[in-house]
This record gives sequence, C-alpha cells and structure tokens, in this order.
Amino acid sequence: MNPDLKNERRQATFETEQITHLLYGGKAKTDRRRALEKLIETDPSGIFSNDLNYYLPRTERHTRALAKFVRLVELMKVLGCSKEGDGGKLLESEDMVFLLGAIADDLPSSLHWIMFVPNIKSLFDEEQQAKLMPLIEDWRIIGCYAQTELGHGSNVRGLETTATFVKDDEDGHFIVNSPTLTATKFWPGTLGRTANHAMVIARLIDGDGIDRGVHNFLVQLRSFHDHTLLPGVKTGDIGPKIGYNNMDNGFATFDNVRIPRRNMGMRFSTVDKTGKYKKKVMSDASAKVAYITMMQVRGEYTFPLTYFIQQMVSYPFTNTPFFNKPSLLMKLVKISPWHVQ
Ligand SMILES: Cc1cc2nc3c(=O)[nH]c(=O)nc-3n(C[C@H](O)[C@H](O)[C@H](O)COP(=O)(O)OP(=O)(O)OC[C@H]3O[C@@H](n4cnc5c(N)ncnc54)[C@H](O)[C@@H]3O)c2cc1C
Repeated sequence: MNPDLKNERRQATFETEQITHLLYGGKAKTDRRRALEKLIETDPSGIFSNDLNYYLPRTERHTRALAKFVRLVELMKVLGCSKEGDGGKLLESEDMVFLLGAIADDLPSSLHWIMFVPNIKSLFDEEQQAKLMPLIEDWRIIGCYAQTELGHGSNVRGLETTATFVKDDEDGHFIVNSPTLTATKFWPGTLGRTANHAMVIARLIDGDGIDRGVHNFLVQLRSFHDHTLLPGVKTGDIGPKIGYNNMDNGFATFDNVRIPRRNMGMRFSTVDKTGKYKKKVMSDASAKVAYITMMQVRGEYTFPLTYFIQQMVSYPFTNTPFFNKPSLLMKLVKISPWHVQ
C-alpha cells in the first residue's frame, strides 16, 4: 500500500480493520480475500502480472488474458472453490469474486459468467438447466450473449435474426438465420474468438408461421473438438477499441443453422413438438424477460463505477504536492478497503 495512504488511515478516529470486516462480511471473509490475493500475487506461473498490458499487441493481450483464465480455473480446482468443496461449481463460489478482483484485468471469458450463465439460470427450465449446467460449470461450454445487431441496439424490438420452427423429425428443430446485413450480431463480448456457444436473441417464428417476438436460443458456434466454426456460422473479432482490448467483442451471422427445439429457453414460454407456442406465465413481466440479461448486466455496471470513483478520489493521497490539506470527503475515502488495504 502507498505509505501516505497508510499514514492517513492510521490517523482515523476508528478502527479501520473493523470497518473492513464489516464491509466484507466478517473477519473470516477478509482473511480469505487477503489469502487469495496473495495467491494470485505470488503465483509461480507469473501469468497474473499486468506489467505488460500496455505494451502487448492486441492479439497477444487476448491470448495472455486467456492464459490467465486457464490458470484461474486450475487454481480454483486445486483450491476446491465450491460450496461442496469438490471444485465442480466454480461459478457459484464466493472465492471467484475475490480472485477476479485480485487478477484486476479483463478476462475474455468473462461474459460466460456475467451474461451467459445468468441467462441460462433465468430463462431455461429445470430440465434444460440440469442438462446444460454440468458442461457449463466445467467450462466445456463457453458462452456469450448475442443480442445486439449491426442495425439494432437499444431497439430490441427491431432485432431481425430469426429462429424458425421446422417439423423435420419427431422432436422438431429451429433454423437460426440472419436475413440481412443489419441482422449481423455485433458487439457481443467473448463471441469473436473465445466462446463455443452463443445465447442468440432472435425472433421466434412458430410452427404456425407466427412471429412471437424475441426469445433466447442456444446456438453452438464452434466445435468442442478443435474450436473450428460449425457450418453456417460466421464470426470474428470486431477489432481494436479505445479500451477493453483483452475482450474479443465480435460479430456473427447465421446461415440457416439448425438447432434442437429444446435449445430455446423454455422457462416462461414453450414450443412443443408440433410447433405450437405457449406462454407459461401470463403476466406483462413474463413477456419482457427475454432481454432481462442485458438489463441485469447494465445494472451491475454501477459496482465497478463506484470502485473507479473511489480510486479517482484516492489518487490525490499518492500525489501529496497537490493535496496537502485533504477535504472531509477525502478523509472518508481514506477508510475505503477496496484493493488498497
Ligand atoms: C464494450 C461493449 C460491450 C458490449 N457487449 C455486448 C454483449 O456482450 N452482448 C450484446 O448483445 N451487446 C453488447 N454490446 C452492445 C450494446 O448493448 C449496445 O451498444 C447498446 O445496446 C446500444 O446499442 P447501439 O450501440 O446500437 O446504440 P443505439 O441503440 O443506436 O443508440 C445510439 C444513441 O441513441 C440513443 N438512443 C437510442 N434509443 C433512444 C431512444 N429511444 N430515445 C432516446 N435516445 C435513444 C442512445 O442513448 C445512444 O446515445 C456491447 C457494447 C459495447 C460498447
């Protein structure tokens, strides 16, 4: 920790350590966080160093960030970071939050747990989850969330990608298609190179040919075997951005890609084997949940924002020539526990 900051905190009129425990949910959790931070800091692989971040070309940044992710999963398995202690349910682990905080870098796989997993848990029924979650938790399925299109961002009702029911065998299928250039999925993180599956938000055309509006469809993009693109799927990285350059924000088009009927999220509405559409829960809210994942994640942005604001206000303490007499606000900031303690 910066010595000036340490000194300022020492002068607080209350016990800063107690506040830290309060904010993290008890001494045991503070201790666990610190132990995990140490683990990342001293990991013998050296892969978690962020020193090179601004010197590496973008492709290498992506690859290096992926290597960080692979090492993170290895460590979590060794640590047994799960409620059961068997390393099998990494995504549910409280340790994950502390480990990600300690890594303090963007991981290209992050949309898997930020958007893809919450989507499956919110919008897929129990039977679907029971089938998918073991593969997802074991990182065999790596997913992203593909809602935005080249021509349609905020206006979700305008999305053009279609998922059309076809009764081509006993169970039936959906054909996922991008009918126009503006229907190209554009921006989704983790899509460009990392993910092997996408949660595609598309207009459902049921067995009666009726457009039922946007629904969620799980589409496999790449082979489990060698990560090559599956037939009908075109995808890639959209290129360098002002920031967030570890992340492979991508584009994708679908040329009549066939997916199983049960790859549609069926917690709130279903399409049966004959192509009949049915809403399970009759309320205004249930019709809106199709794009709940995007709303959830945009809400979560407020958390990192508070962190950045705190960092910004703390900065003067490490640059004392400009702030010899800290304001009351700055005194308060001095007790903040985030990262710097
Ligand atoms: C870093 C990054 C990561 C992203 N990750 C994902 C992802 O993982 N998955 C995904 O699907 N998408 C992702 N997106 C896309 C993102 O969700 C869209 O950019 C967003 O929904 C806005 O859409 P748009 O860019 O088309 O802008 P538009 O919707 O075209 O908006 C352009 C401007 O018009 C304003 N505007 C729009 N509608 C109205 C209105 N009705 N009234 C008044 N003003 C309006 C907007 O505020 C904005 O200023 C990502 C984008 C970025 C930048």
